[in-house]
Amino acid sequence: MAEDRQMPNVMLRNLLEAIAEVLGENGLKAVLNAAGLQRFIDNYPPNNMDRNVTFAEYGAAEQAVEDVVGPKGAKMMLTRIGRATFRYALEEQPAVLGLAGVALKALPMNTRMKIVLASLAKAATKDVNQPTDIEEHDDHFLFVVSECPCRWRGKKDKPVCFVTVGVLHGALHWATGKNFKIEEINCIAMGDDACRYRIDKEPLED
Ligand SMILES: [Zn+2]
Repeated sequence: MAEDRQMPNVMLRNLLEAIAEVLGENGLKAVLNAAGLQRFIDNYPPNNMDRNVTFAEYGAAEQAVEDVVGPKGAKMMLTRIGRATFRYALEEQPAVLGLAGVALKALPMNTRMKIVLASLAKAATKDVNQPTDIEEHDDHFLFVVSECPCRWRGKKDKPVCFVTVGVLHGALHWATGKNFKIEEINCIAMGDDACRYRIDKEPLED
């Protein structure tokens, strides 16, 4: 495992913006201190695709949210942070996501889901240094991520990638106006070969 696997600046930037939104500016400061990422206090990475930050740093920020919030609230907070992360990414790098100007309104829900998941997978693979595939099954999709910041968070006995769960919630809600059941069923942090997210095709009741 490359200790210094790189990702684009804007990825960590969007995560830190989302943490500030959900936990407040002081919450973000506590997270950055806990993560050993003091160099980003009042100093977000720039809004560009240069690869000057690492998977390890992204994972450290996620882990620090868990440590600061505590085990009880962490899952919900990280999922909220993931939803906000998608919103910032869409605002700041719409071209990267491939969703700028995509007309989804007239399309069936299943097609909209497929388009948005395929766009995210393509952007992750091509631009984020994070190889990702989607699989379609009868009643669900699988979003399969083969490299993830969670690899740098130490060994876990439960899935930990709730930021990604939140990003998927945000993206699918943006594309369809609906909420879906999304569960991480495999996680690299548990020793699995990939982080796999199962997404029900049938939306949840509002
Ligand atoms: Zn994972």
